[in-house]
Amino acid sequence: MYSKHLTAVSSPLRPCCHNGSEGNSAVLSEAVLDALPSPTVVLDPDGKVLLTNSAWEAAVATVDDDRIDGGAGVDYFTTARRACGKAVGGKIVDSIRALSRGERASVAMDYSLEHPAGTHWYHLQASRLDQAGQVVVTHTDVTDRVQAERASAWQARHDDLTELPNRAALHELIDAELQRPDRLPITVLLLDVDGFKDVNDSLGHEVGDEAIRQVAVRLAARTRSEDTVGRLGGDEFVVLCRDCDTAGAEVLAQRFQSIFDEPFHLGGRTARLTASIGVVTSRGGDPSGTRATDLLRDADLAMYAAKRAGRSRMRVFSPELRDAVQQKVLVAGGLREAIETGQLVLHYQPILHLPTGRVDGVEALVRWQHPERGLLPPGDFIAVAEEYELIDPLTRWVLGAATRQAAEWAGSGLPLLVAVNVSATTLAAGTLVDDVAGALAASGLPPDRLIIELTETTVAEDPERAAAQFAALRISGVEVAIDDFGSGFSSLGQLVNIPAGVLKIDRSLVGGAADRRSQSTAAIAAVVALAKACGMRALAEGVETVEQLTLTATLGCTFAQGYYIAHPMPADELRSWLRERTAIGNRDSDRRASLAVSPSATTH
Ligand code: C2E
Ligand code: MG
Ligand code: MG
Repeated sequence: MYSKHLTAVSSPLRPCCHNGSEGNSAVLSEAVLDALPSPTVVLDPDGKVLLTNSAWEAAVATVDDDRIDGGAGVDYFTTARRACGKAVGGKIVDSIRALSRGERASVAMDYSLEHPAGTHWYHLQASRLDQAGQVVVTHTDVTDRVQAERASAWQARHDDLTELPNRAALHELIDAELQRPDRLPITVLLLDVDGFKDVNDSLGHEVGDEAIRQVAVRLAARTRSEDTVGRLGGDEFVVLCRDCDTAGAEVLAQRFQSIFDEPFHLGGRTARLTASIGVVTSRGGDPSGTRATDLLRDADLAMYAAKRAGRSRMRVFSPELRDAVQQKVLVAGGLREAIETGQLVLHYQPILHLPTGRVDGVEALVRWQHPERGLLPPGDFIAVAEEYELIDPLTRWVLGAATRQAAEWAGSGLPLLVAVNVSATTLAAGTLVDDVAGALAASGLPPDRLIIELTETTVAEDPERAAAQFAALRISGVEVAIDDFGSGFSSLGQLVNIPAGVLKIDRSLVGGAADRRSQSTAAIAAVVALAKACGMRALAEGVETVEQLTLTATLGCTFAQGYYIAHPMPADELRSWLRERTAIGNRDSDRRASLAVSPSATTH
């Protein structure tokens, strides 16, 4: 479409006025045309090139393309069809013809030309010059602008790290599939790398990024050409499988899990990774109006359910998963209100000091006095509190109520130690030491009357953080206990370095201690020995029979707690229970004898 010569043919630009300045006007028009930076031609109504400018000539000279011949006298319309193809060329011709006939005011359109050096983009702008229908057409090279726009559009739809389609693109692609009327099944697999935080924390973020890149490459290699793999963000990937039902997706999920069979080479080390996968299936043209957001949310629920079941699992979405979440959201809403409106109550379970047979402490255990469902145990709401960021206000409430109660008992001549349970999330938040100090200051309870309990699993999750906070608590005079010991798999090495004063032996071990020869008995003996070696006193949890009480005392436990001694009870009942117990104890020397420590066992 570029002429090879700047030429005015015999029918030059018709001057706009017919007087003596006619010649001057034509010269001026040619000069104006020539000054235009874009390749420009003037056409007669039949598309014959009347005039071209020097930019056109220069462009044609550099283009060196047989299709392009726009010299004076040449048929521009034929050239346009030849260079741009039937569809685009035809559109250019029709538009310019309509313009020439005065049926439209102007023409503006973009088109591309394939050159040996690559695709070039042009912006074509045409205006009618006069009543005779002559038309001036400019062709501006907009390749740089189009390429920049395309690059930014690509970036907006792709993830920087892996170059895979990003969250926005995945949403669009899934929505497009859902809107197809063919009702073919589509499946979304959401894959999340297990324990990826550990990779980042232990090997650094750069190595973490490298791991993500390697996972992306492996996933892309296993994805069928008709499917799409993308990255949602973080360590989450999505595979959109077209024409694939749940059974097919399960096979694909296994294939994706197998990309983790081979170890990853990261930062000079070899690391094994696994992933959990959530799967959800829908159909194109679904009359219920399912959207990408719905499918991704359901896949996410299935993925979390897979994670909860253990690493490297796959779970297919089912509506019960959504119901369970809705239920949790309801519980969380109610619990928030319960904390604010005083529906929480504490029950206290007596702790027996075995060498003396005296109850010198209690464990505070939270309950929720639910307006409709009655008294709820902590198992019904603590996990929800942890998940929905309610555990900090809950722990602060328990600390406040328990220390106030213990201070009140002490004030009325009942100096009991009180133990309070604290969740892993509170330890991670790092507010524990301040919260404890706040509760002690507000209640006036001396620090050595308070024990903070943290489970073995909590401690094992981050032993360094636990050790630092335990040390700070103990410096302030507060005792620390490791709860449920024997229920997790923490290494003994970790335990040695934890500054705790009491080791609570889990009731699963105590419950199995039927006689002196049982395995549980041997385990308890070993734990008691370990506790002593670490300077801790052992407490037997869940003592339900007189045999267990005698045995744990004989094995050297300092404290015992369990239904055999007493169930957890409200504060006012505890006072009468203690009174009654003292009265019985005074009368019943046999029972006291059964609580006495055997001479061979040393306790402190
Ligand atoms: P835990 O701290 O190990 O508390 C002991 C649990 O065992 C209590 O259950 C208690 O009622 C029960 N128990 C005591 N003796 C026996 C026995 O002889 N046999 C049996 N089978 N069970 C016995 P509860 O009150 O339902 O509490 C369960 C768990 O909830 C607690 O275990 C603790 O981990 C958590 N929890 C309780 N209160 C709080 C709290 O205020 N904050 C936090 N974060 N967790 C709490
Ligand atoms: Mg406890
Ligand atoms: Mg326990």
